Amino acid sequence: MILVLFGPPGAGKGTQAERLRDTFRLEHLSSGDMLRAERASGSELGQRVSGFMDAGQLVPDEIIIEVVLARVIKPGSGMGYLLDGFPRTLPQAQRLDEALAAAGSRVDLVLSLAVPDGLIVDRITGRLSCPRCGTVYHLKNKPPLQAGVCDHDGETLIQRKDDTAEVVQQRLTAYHAQTSPLEEYYRNHDVLGGVDGTADIDAVTRELSELVRSKVVSST
Ligand code: AMP
Repeated sequence: MILVLFGPPGAGKGTQAERLRDTFRLEHLSSGDMLRAERASGSELGQRVSGFMDAGQLVPDEIIIEVVLARVIKPGSGMGYLLDGFPRTLPQAQRLDEALAAAGSRVDLVLSLAVPDGLIVDRITGRLSCPRCGTVYHLKNKPPLQAGVCDHDGETLIQRKDDTAEVVQQRLTAYHAQTSPLEEYYRNHDVLGGVDGTADIDAVTRELSELVRSKVVSST
């Protein structure tokens, strides 16, 4: 089963992805985490994408497509994937579809989290993440058990460089210009499921889980 989590930055994709991953035993593939890992490793690829990320711009399609597709298309694995942050442009979605079709698969369900722009800045600027395991917290909505420390590995939490108020505006601009048209694309492919991302975290998880369950039932 291939699921895509879709929505603006700060919609809660990362948090919900962790929960869905555990419930449905999916492999969570976050394109942002992959890029941050490349950057942390100091690789040439990491250096190439760093400037785009810090400025809140999308990295070029040809780079991200190569990075993500190499991880998703493992013919015969039979594994379920939860894509988070990819695709983010029409060419990315089309390349993903082509690659999946060639491997006899397809995107089964796109879970779209709707959150208005007005709530996004507050959500993102209160966000903290673990540089080691990638777990995302929020000062108000999802605080760690001990302030400033990751629940899972004790690492000191950090604010992402692109989670500042200025960069968030740029990320929102990129979202509306390049990513939101994908909703139409997936609606036309009859795989779009929408959820109100402003509800509390548990309610959103319940709704998303229902959508996934109904998909599993309808495809068996
Ligand atoms: P995220 O953690 O998903 O918010 O991604 C952080 C940053 O990584 C984005 O602001 C982009 O610069 C880059 N990025 C992640 N995924 C993609 C993608 N699918 N296409 C282009 N850029 C991406």
